[in-house]
This record gives sequence, C-alpha cells and structure tokens, in this order.
Amino acid sequence: MSDKRKREEVGSLPPPFREEDSADKAPLRWHRRAATLPRDKGAYLLLIRLTAAVPAPQNVAPGRSLARGLYVYCGSARGPGGIAARVGRHMRPEKGLRWHVDHLTSRAASVRALVFPGGDECVLLERVLGMEGISVPLPGLGASDCVRCPAHLLRADGRAVDVADRLQNLFEAVSRGSEDG
Ligand SMILES: [Zn+2]
Repeated sequence: MSDKRKREEVGSLPPPFREEDSADKAPLRWHRRAATLPRDKGAYLLLIRLTAAVPAPQNVAPGRSLARGLYVYCGSARGPGGIAARVGRHMRPEKGLRWHVDHLTSRAASVRALVFPGGDECVLLERVLGMEGISVPLPGLGASDCVRCPAHLLRADGRAVDVADRLQNLFEAVSRGSEDG
C-alpha cells in the first residue's frame, strides 16, 4: 500500500526525457564502458557495486562508513563532453575525490550507467526513491548541489542483476508512457 502511494506521488512527475526525443534514440540500456556513452548533455544513473565498506565523505558523516553492497547515484552532465565525459570519469577508478560519489566509484567493483540525454537528475532520483528496496544511507549524500532531494546517492537491496533489471524496467516503462497516471 505504501508502494501504491509512492507510485501515485511519482506519477505526477514529468518523464525523465521528452517523448519526442526518444523516438530516434537508442533504446535504454546499461553502459559498462566509456566508449559507448553519448556526448549529449543530460542526466544519468549509476549502479555502483561495492565489495567492501568505504569511509563516508568527511563532510557528510565523519567516522561513518558505507557498507558493501549496491548504490544508485543520479547525476547530471551539462559541461563539455556531456554525459560521455562525466560518466567516463565515474567509470575510471583513478581520480581525485571531488564529489561524494567519487568515494564509492574509486573503490567500486563495478560501475554501470543508464543515460538520459536532456534528462533531469532530480526527476530520476524521485522515481528511483519510489522503487522497492531503495533507502537513503546518509541524508544529503551525493546531493551537495540539491535542495530538493533527501540524497542523490541511494542504497539498493538485492542482487546486482536484479536491481539492474528493475531499474531498466522502471525507466523503460516511463519512456514508453505506459504508466497509468
Ligand atoms: Zn535532487
């Protein structure tokens, strides 16, 4: 029943990208390497798998750690090189720890991405929040630039393959406009 309520809440949000944009674009799929990423500006979703705990960023929760498991991050890429440049950086383990999410991606066993040219990261985030098995590990995590969302880095329960399928199905349903809302 709480799932139904959540669905109704997110049902009023606009789709993560415009319908008219989706017709000539590749179908939604997981990217596992930078070479396949588009250079469009827009939003993206990362599924990050940690096989060991990592220390939480000092400015969020000093002394705390993030347990091993799966995390979902929703971000935007509006700079030069667009989604390819930003998500490509997330997929590279070697980098400075500039953003909260870097603390996870620099030590991740895997990082895969769904991309949404023209999309909005907060709209993605709200839809993911409505999914079963999703929780906020630390308030504000990954959301330094956002005043609207509880966090932009979320914890996901379940096996990686299942969570990946559920996320893909969630956004494929949205892009087909098949939600009754
Ligand atoms: Zn947000």
